[in-house]
Amino acid sequence: MRCPECQHPDTKVTATRLQEEDSVVRRRRRCLHCGYRFSTLETCCTTDLIVIKRDGSRETFEAQKILLALQKTFKKDVRSDESVRQLHEQIVKIIREQEKHSISSQMIGDIVLEQLKQIDPMAYIRFVSIYKNFRTAADFASAAQSISQET
Ligand SMILES: [Zn+2]
Repeated sequence: MRCPECQHPDTKVTATRLQEEDSVVRRRRRCLHCGYRFSTLETCCTTDLIVIKRDGSRETFEAQKILLALQKTFKKDVRSDESVRQLHEQIVKIIREQEKHSISSQMIGDIVLEQLKQIDPMAYIRFVSIYKNFRTAADFASAAQSISQET
């Protein structure tokens, strides 16, 4: 960390303390060249995942949105809140594991559907009907059929 005053590269840390619930480290430093005192803040640098939507627009990935979609899908289901939450965690984990800076909304949809299909074919159809906007009844029928063939 260069001295902001004289640009000397060597500074000495004179104090270190945590603040803001331990998520930020504040260090007091002193320039070894001119004696200028200043502070640095060290914080975790999380890079936001960007979602590229079908129309090309971009937005920051919000895990909460997937949870809301799942809750809507399972609204009339006996499934407990806990299992929906676990499913949500699993889906978000898979999305994060892609380790990309951006992901298409379509791919997120595919990941959600893949997980739903594994645990509950009926929920899968419900989710598709809510979020994929079937153009025709035939689309819905073929989706339903593809599930009954696999199970
Ligand atoms: Zn200095």
